[in-house]
Amino acid sequence: MSVKNNDSIESSLFEKRKKLYPREVHGLFANLRLLSVSILLGAYYLLPWINLSGRQIVLFDLPERKFYIFNWIFWPQDFIYLALLLICAAFALFLFTALAGRLWCGYACPQTVWTEVFLWIERKVEGTRSQQMKLDKQESSFTKFRIKATKHTIWIIFSLYTGFTFVGFFTPIRELAQGIMSFDLGPSEVFWLLFYSLATYGNAGWLREQVCMYMCPYARFQSAMLDKDSLVISYDALRGEPRGGRKKGDDLEAKQLGSCIDCSLCVQVCPTGIDIRNGLQYECIGCAACIDVCDDVMDKMDYPRGLVKYTTENKMEGRKTTILRPRIIIYVILLVSILSGIFYSIETRDSVALNILRDRNALYRENFEGTISNSYTIKVLNMDLIDHDYTLKVTGIEGLQSSIKEPIKVKAGQVLEMPLLLSAEPESLHHTSLTIKLTLQAVDDINVSTESEGRFIGPIDP
Ligand code: SF4
Ligand code: SF4
Repeated sequence: MSVKNNDSIESSLFEKRKKLYPREVHGLFANLRLLSVSILLGAYYLLPWINLSGRQIVLFDLPERKFYIFNWIFWPQDFIYLALLLICAAFALFLFTALAGRLWCGYACPQTVWTEVFLWIERKVEGTRSQQMKLDKQESSFTKFRIKATKHTIWIIFSLYTGFTFVGFFTPIRELAQGIMSFDLGPSEVFWLLFYSLATYGNAGWLREQVCMYMCPYARFQSAMLDKDSLVISYDALRGEPRGGRKKGDDLEAKQLGSCIDCSLCVQVCPTGIDIRNGLQYECIGCAACIDVCDDVMDKMDYPRGLVKYTTENKMEGRKTTILRPRIIIYVILLVSILSGIFYSIETRDSVALNILRDRNALYRENFEGTISNSYTIKVLNMDLIDHDYTLKVTGIEGLQSSIKEPIKVKAGQVLEMPLLLSAEPESLHHTSLTIKLTLQAVDDINVSTESEGRFIGPIDP
């Protein structure tokens, strides 16, 4: 805040960002985070390179409007599954937050996952927390420039590979790699590759904790999902206070001290730079780094672990606590029911679809030999992972003749559109409009079949 003259006072609404240098931490939760990061990044970078039956195992083919996920193909009409999966994701977030706070943020959020990698690269190039701080304070020099340039070059290469992999989920990744080698990429591929690379570099390299603190809406409403039985990371103030320095083995009662030695390591390891000793704060992403480092300190001081720990508000206040609350049971029931429904529905859905469309130009045609014809367009959608030959049976009118030449050959994932001409003797037409039934049956698999209905129009007085 500054006073410009007697009448006006100028104040800044924003605090200047202080660069954070999170200290490296080891321990149970750091190992769990490492495991989670390795699994998620392993899946992200490896999946597009795995092929199944000659095609990429996970491919979102937008131009063809088909999503390949492991053994399944999803079509535009399967949009309902995506909607249901998003509902499940929301319920899972509610469930895990009610159970143990920001588990998602601390262990699985892409921002956390990629920031962990960027921090690791930074430590490898610039050294420990104190070396990084020392380097930043140094005057400009060739050595400083070389170290910074090395870090940013590695970050940029890693970001570009991340962007390339992202696009590889939408364009077959081997074709994409060849396209890059031969400088033959489409404009949308170039745009998304650069966009995702820039987002990775900017978010994980520069913005880091600011994404969690100022951009992510989840931090703002997470408190609404917590209750007094939710596990949260807390500092045990009753045990820790009064905090203060001491030597190992000092008599705490004589010195009137709690267990906290005020070493500030819990603040130094915090990726958002907060002090867990000030209570639960919205900036806390639940990474548990402060638990690991404080347990380490407690071990060195020969104090029991758990000055900072996962606990519930009820437990901290000496009340009974329980995991099985009504909301948890409801979330679990909803999640299990919707997920089971999705899997059952996907596994039992038809792997072939048949659509029939009447020719709108003419109701019917009287042929030279006296028969009545209707023309249609049929669409056969082979949603299976293998090619099929089909037969088409049309019933509903006696002696109905079809123009289709069997077998109808449709490749895996193909939509085949073809004309269909049906002809009937006038004597068979008892009404002007009759229902016909089309049965499509795969020649090689009795379980692959589908039916569809249409109308056959004849003269008013046959
Ligand atoms: S790490 Fe533990 S002992 Fe050190 S300041 Fe934090 S709470 Fe206190
Ligand atoms: S307070 Fe602890 S759990 Fe929360 S973000 Fe900081 S280090 Fe992670």
